Amino acid sequence: MLSVEEARERMLIGLAPMPAERLPLDRCLGRVPAALSLQAAIDVPPFDNSAMDGFAVRAVDLPGELRVVGEVAAGAATLLRLEAGTAVRIMTGAPMPPGADTVVPVELATEHADGVVLPATPRGEYVRSAGHDTAAGSRVDLPGAPLSPASIAVLATLGMAAFEVRRRPRVAILSTGDELVAPGGPLRPGQIYDANSFALSAAVTDAGGEPLIQPAVPDDPILIEQRVAAAAAGADLLVVSGGVSVGRHDHVRDAIERLGTLDFWRIAVQPGKPLAFGSVAGRPAIGLPGNPVSALVTFELFVRPMLRALLGLAGDGRMRLPVCATQRIDKDPDRRAYLRVRVVSDRDGGLRAEPAGGQGSAQLRPLADANALLIVPEGVRRTEAGTTYEAILVGAVA
Ligand code: AMP
Ligand code: MG
Repeated sequence: MLSVEEARERMLIGLAPMPAERLPLDRCLGRVPAALSLQAAIDVPPFDNSAMDGFAVRAVDLPGELRVVGEVAAGAATLLRLEAGTAVRIMTGAPMPPGADTVVPVELATEHADGVVLPATPRGEYVRSAGHDTAAGSRVDLPGAPLSPASIAVLATLGMAAFEVRRRPRVAILSTGDELVAPGGPLRPGQIYDANSFALSAAVTDAGGEPLIQPAVPDDPILIEQRVAAAAAGADLLVVSGGVSVGRHDHVRDAIERLGTLDFWRIAVQPGKPLAFGSVAGRPAIGLPGNPVSALVTFELFVRPMLRALLGLAGDGRMRLPVCATQRIDKDPDRRAYLRVRVVSDRDGGLRAEPAGGQGSAQLRPLADANALLIVPEGVRRTEAGTTYEAILVGAVA
């Protein structure tokens, strides 16, 4: 059995970033920039402007009563020049009149019919100078992460209507099993609903890929081989679930081996020991275990980093934190366990991990309730309450 690290290393070999495509900015959320660094073409803001509704003045004229000679609103283009002893009423975002160097907020002003009394104010107060957020010609580094609303705002303020992002890797998803039926139809004796097609498709989308769901295929070696070959042909990566273990009806490993190469098929991980990795038609092919919990956890540990590598991103993009276990949970000492837990903050500001429910690999609800996977190393037989382990935060905090 390979360790988690050895397996991951082998799965990442040779994965090069996808080519770039240019998208309108309103379609860039969650997409990965093709280049993480760009040069600002303009100053942001493009001109000196007011940070407040108030009066644009010369600081040397304060304190005192000034004559109000006009008004400038956001979007104003031509401006009168501010003379000594005068003030111009100004709105937030409006350009500073030439000659003015300071803004006094309207809340601090006492207005009369023919003038305004303003307190002493430091020069430059409430003026946002041109380029103070981003200077023209300067380098703008984007986070090595999918574009967030804030990063999209940065690009928009720089005047970019479209942006180059990595094409999303196309991931074919093929569930195997005689027992599977698509949700929506009736269940006959012995049948279950296919969860993995949907679970893995969602996980692919979440990791930045484009899922291509294939109709589930029964446990027939010839059919599986045909469908694996066809699915791989139209994709950048192939994810099969079920049928990778040692049962008499597990045909996925053989299919991968016959169609391409099989690199390995067992990892010292719990859940998810049987996991086949190889290539079909030059595309990476991964056979995940059929239990939805095992399929999703191994997707998280192995397929998600592969998709990120195809997007030019390192690692899994998850936060890791030391957390304190609250309960004893048994595990297989030969494998590293990823336990389904809820990380919550305790009264004195520390973080503790409560089991999200039973840890059986057919217990799906605890995975849905978990916000983290607690990593319990090889060699350990059980977690002990009060012991600190590392957790991978995978979900929102409810
Ligand atoms: P397998 O890996 O094929 O031996 O399947 C292990 C377990 O996962 C069995 O109980 C299967 O019925 C179940 N399983 C396999 N594929 C799916 C799927 N797509 N959706 C839900 N359960 C599945
Ligand atoms: Mg099966």
